[in-house]
Amino acid sequence: MISRVLAVAIIFAAALMALPIYRLYEELLANQQQQIDAHALAIVDRISETLHSLTLTTRHVASSQQLQDIVQLGNEDEIESWSVDTRKLFPNVVGLALQDRQGRYLGDPATLRISKLCERDTNLFIRGELMSYPPVHAANPELTHIDIMQKLTADDGQFAGLLLISYRLAVMQSILDNYAMPGYRYLLKDSRGEQIAAYGDGDYSYSVRLPVPETDWQLTIMTNNQLGDDHWQLIKFSLMTLIVVLASFFIVVGPYIGRELVRDISKVRVLLKYKNLDEHNTQQEDNKIRLTEIASLLDDIEELAGEITQTRSQLELEAYTDELTGLMNRRAFEISRGHLSRLAARQPVILALIDIDKFKHINDTYGHMAGDLVLKRFGTLLKDNVRSSDEIYRLGGDELLVVFTSNNIDYLQKWYANISAKLSKLHVRQGVVVTFSAGATQLSPGSDEVFTDAMMRADAALYSAKKAGRARLVVG
Ligand code: GH3
Ligand code: MG
Repeated sequence: MISRVLAVAIIFAAALMALPIYRLYEELLANQQQQIDAHALAIVDRISETLHSLTLTTRHVASSQQLQDIVQLGNEDEIESWSVDTRKLFPNVVGLALQDRQGRYLGDPATLRISKLCERDTNLFIRGELMSYPPVHAANPELTHIDIMQKLTADDGQFAGLLLISYRLAVMQSILDNYAMPGYRYLLKDSRGEQIAAYGDGDYSYSVRLPVPETDWQLTIMTNNQLGDDHWQLIKFSLMTLIVVLASFFIVVGPYIGRELVRDISKVRVLLKYKNLDEHNTQQEDNKIRLTEIASLLDDIEELAGEITQTRSQLELEAYTDELTGLMNRRAFEISRGHLSRLAARQPVILALIDIDKFKHINDTYGHMAGDLVLKRFGTLLKDNVRSSDEIYRLGGDELLVVFTSNNIDYLQKWYANISAKLSKLHVRQGVVVTFSAGATQLSPGSDEVFTDAMMRADAALYSAKKAGRARLVVG
């Protein structure tokens, strides 16, 4: 339970720390966008102001008394010289012209190159019809310009003509050149897509588009990095701090949580067990499913238990088996004592203690390996010549015990003679002659003789056999 609370607390703490970082990111992003927007707005303002001052200038010229007089009283020559003189006053002007009441264009012949588009736009302007204003004329790349127009009014208030001043687009381009920032791209276009000014190039992921007031122009600003490098540094620093804090937290509290988690799992197990028992009484349908699950679990457990038993038996077998001969070892004999006592109480038993004669000599003469081989062969010989109900133990060294489930001493004598004969023919190595001595004793069923006493009697009989010259069986 505590670990769950801790885990929730950690997640909550992480969320609490991550939230301000995300807020910071959002705030920085919003700031950055605000900055871009403000930058775009400042440029649009400059464009607006410039256009406004061009319009004011045109209006000022249009309302001058000199122009009024010329338009109403002057001839074409006077208009021409006025146009040439006035144009000189304005930098960045491509042309300056007048359109009279009849629609004729008058002015400086050097600059009076009125295109079809200019003509169309002046007519639209005079009629007050919808048009792209101020019109951009880019038919001639060297003379691309915008036209600023102002209607002339006669003294009687009647329409007297139109003043048309064509400014080079450089007027607008200089604004971008002055205000542009590195890493940004700027495009100023009219609603028909005609480019008025541009700065920078390349593709960018983020863009802001702002209309220029009182025109159909639009300024687009494009940039790549929504967040500046220093902002990213701040975010990265905050994230690193969060990771370091969390990591330290886990290092300090981790082992404790692990322990608690293990405890929780056992608790949940117990709870589940009781819950299952509880539900057993109430939800039969659920139980069927649960029982199926339990059944398969039991199968698994059974299988596992089988494997464990098998492994255990294997281990036991190894622990109670003599490695060299494959016979049961001393440990097996000690454990079997009780079982052998009970066996002897039920049915006649003959205990035969066996010891190889002068085995030390075999070892000394032919080597330990040869001795081992003799032991191994002798063990096999014994195994092959007893019944399945008889048991053989290697008690240690060259001493063995055979437990015969029989009371037939004759049988025992024959058995000894048979094994001795076979042993003498066993050619372990050239010159090796192996004999063995045996001391046997009989246990009668029903007698309350102690098994240990019988073993001592067999031992005494073996001793007698050795003493009497070896290679013989003595029954005691
Ligand atoms: P005795 O006829 O009186 O029995 O003479 P012995 O030489 O056989 O004397 P004893 O039974 O006391 O000696 C047993 C010897 O068996 C002593 C030991 O060196 C040897 N021995 C015991 N275990 C092993 C074994 O696993 N391999 C071999 N090669 N020799 C063993
Ligand atoms: Mg011996």
